[in-house]
Amino acid sequence: MAEACKLAAGNWKMNGLRADLAEARALAAACSEPGCGVLLCPPATLIAPMAEALAGSRVMVGGQDCHASESGAHTGDIAARMLADAGARHVILGHSERRADHLESSEVVAAKARAAQAAGLVAIVCVGETEAERDAGRTLDVVLGQLAASLPDGSSAANTVIAYEPVWAIGTGRTPSLEQIAEVHDALRTAVPDAAMSLLYGGSVKPGNAAEIFAIGNVDGALVGGASLKAADFAAIVAALDAA
Ligand code: PEP
Repeated sequence: MAEACKLAAGNWKMNGLRADLAEARALAAACSEPGCGVLLCPPATLIAPMAEALAGSRVMVGGQDCHASESGAHTGDIAARMLADAGARHVILGHSERRADHLESSEVVAAKARAAQAAGLVAIVCVGETEAERDAGRTLDVVLGQLAASLPDGSSAANTVIAYEPVWAIGTGRTPSLEQIAEVHDALRTAVPDAAMSLLYGGSVKPGNAAEIFAIGNVDGALVGGASLKAADFAAIVAALDAA
């Protein structure tokens, strides 16, 4: 059976100006040896210049969202093939901030993932429970339900990565126990349509907790928010994944 690829993905969210491309360059310099996949997803304004700045390095560039349509009258939106044209290789879809701020349902996420895959991008599809859902003992139901509804037919390890991101762990400094992460990732591994699909954990991953998270079975990497903004922090997380 094919092994899942390891990936350390950084989500800059709505942070970053052109001056911050220096952090991306510093990350590339710190990760000059071959190893796991490394990805930065800056705001859309920085995709093209970051792809140019990182050309030939180990660090790939991705988007944070795309529209489900190829083109058309959708003011302010970005089509998947525009991301690809700007140099993106991946796109994050269904992040909990978009599910909450933009009321994106799993069906919308699936339509976007279909568009991303058709444009040759790898869709990083996010799933995760709220704290109330965890407290109610509904974590696996919620996560597996989102997974099933968010993946279009034809999703495979080549065009899709799954990120398990408990909503209550994002940007809070709180993380599930290692056992709780393992329980969800084990369930995801049996539920994904392709057993070689990479499964990332996301939610307050830092240099200090990365190694123990990467030692969990069925964790193939991380989707990192805050700690991806500083090259030194993200490089330490990449090094932990290389060593796992
Ligand atoms: C995220 O936004 O996907 C995330 C995991 O953020 P943080 O690492 O800051 O918790």
